[in-house]
Amino acid sequence: MEHIAIIGNGISGITAARHIRKLSDKKITVISSETDYFFSRTALMYVYMGHMKFKHTQPYEDWFWKKNEITLKKGYVEQIDTAKKILLFSDGENLKFDKLILATGSKPNKFGWPGQDLKGVVSLYHKQDLEAVETYAPNNTDCKRAVIVGGGLIGIELAEMFHSRHIPVTFLVREDSYWSAILPSGESKMITHEIRKNGIDLRLQSNLKQINSDANGNVKSIVIAETGEEIDCNVVGLTAGVSPNIGFLEHSELETNRGILVDRNLETNIKGIYAIGDCAEQRIAVEGRRPIEAVWYTGRIMGETVAQTICKKETLYTPGHWFNSAKFFDIEYQTYGWVNSERHMKPNEAHFHWMHPDQTKCLTIAFDKTTQSFLGINTFGIRMRHEIFNRWLDQNKSIDYVLEHLEIANFDPEFYKNHYKEVLGKFNAEHHKNLRLKKKNWSQIFTLKS
Ligand SMILES: Cc1cc2nc3c(=O)[nH]c(=O)nc-3n(C[C@H](O)[C@H](O)[C@H](O)COP(=O)(O)OP(=O)(O)OC[C@H]3O[C@@H](n4cnc5c(N)ncnc54)[C@H](O)[C@@H]3O)c2cc1C
Repeated sequence: MEHIAIIGNGISGITAARHIRKLSDKKITVISSETDYFFSRTALMYVYMGHMKFKHTQPYEDWFWKKNEITLKKGYVEQIDTAKKILLFSDGENLKFDKLILATGSKPNKFGWPGQDLKGVVSLYHKQDLEAVETYAPNNTDCKRAVIVGGGLIGIELAEMFHSRHIPVTFLVREDSYWSAILPSGESKMITHEIRKNGIDLRLQSNLKQINSDANGNVKSIVIAETGEEIDCNVVGLTAGVSPNIGFLEHSELETNRGILVDRNLETNIKGIYAIGDCAEQRIAVEGRRPIEAVWYTGRIMGETVAQTICKKETLYTPGHWFNSAKFFDIEYQTYGWVNSERHMKPNEAHFHWMHPDQTKCLTIAFDKTTQSFLGINTFGIRMRHEIFNRWLDQNKSIDYVLEHLEIANFDPEFYKNHYKEVLGKFNAEHHKNLRLKKKNWSQIFTLKS
């Protein structure tokens, strides 16, 4: 019986295993050095914040794997002998495979800062990182201040985590406004305001110079590169992005760049060895997409795709329209399609932006200046329906159509005050138009017709 080995029990590896099982009776082994069972990485913050126990982040019961004849192996793969098709583990064991799927995820970036390995320096990626955060920042007596370095999505999650235990936080962000390389300026400013409103000591245009230690090798303070200011703290969170977790492949025959290079069918340069999820880099990026996309849903799609290729017929990776969601303290964020920051706007990209006066809700719609086609939407504090935007992007709807039908896409709880009249009013005034809101029609939502 063909043996499929999968390194990584995250969303990508586990999706591949589940789908291979659905499609075949092949022998499947899933390997991970991190945890015995698959868990939802995106929920780690809620464990620290006391909203759930770690056990609740595991979507499947422990018996699921045995019942489905998926063997789970805890261990760290140190090397791959691609010629003999053998995995070599750090404890000296080895495992033979017929086909291999690499789903090894990401690791947090460290940029060689002095003091970056001191006791009390943490990040937020693996379960072990969460355990370290719990050890070094259990409360605001043992941790008088935490400093976070790097202003992306994981940095703000860590800030919210410390904040939930009343630990004062200083947040160093390289840009002049939070996440301004990704968000259009109005939104970036709004979230900058939200961070400060929550009492976070946000330092913009500030880089880390070094982390100082006390006599026992614990974090004592940090120094800001630009000003030389020293800030006393007990914990430093390094959240300056992630990169593919592929260090162990250094001496293998597998071709790598930033990630493991794959074709559109997710196969590496070695036949029968595939890479999926955060660790995979497309040799030629899918049109309009980045070669590496470290998000949950693309990992899931790659897992399904590789299972098809291995069990049925070769299938090309097709990620669909880009989407993502996050939460910035109390403000929910969703994005569908592409809305670029001013710095990365495409030549023909134009934006329409609306913000509520209380600065807790806003949206930006991107459209093509010439064709008026809808390109994407960002919403903050407003929930939208994913399937509707997918459809409108598929159907190449115009910005006018999207604005007139915005209420149909709304997914806020019942009786939630919506602001589509104000939104449309602003657009009409700015563009000298007289568009009118179309009433919500439930059949349009449920039948997905329009
Ligand atoms: C705090 C946080 C919040 C996030 N929030 C969101 C979100 O809201 N939305 C979103 O889309 N994405 C989010 N992401 C990103 C998302 O979680 C990742 O894109 C996704 O989990 C990656 O899945 P993966 O299966 O590719 O890899 P991983 O989940 O990283 O799994 C890889 C596994 O392989 C193991 N492994 C690696 N090398 C070896 C080896 N040599 N031997 C044995 N085992 C090995 C690793 O230890 C790990 O367990 C978040 C990430 C983090 C850290």
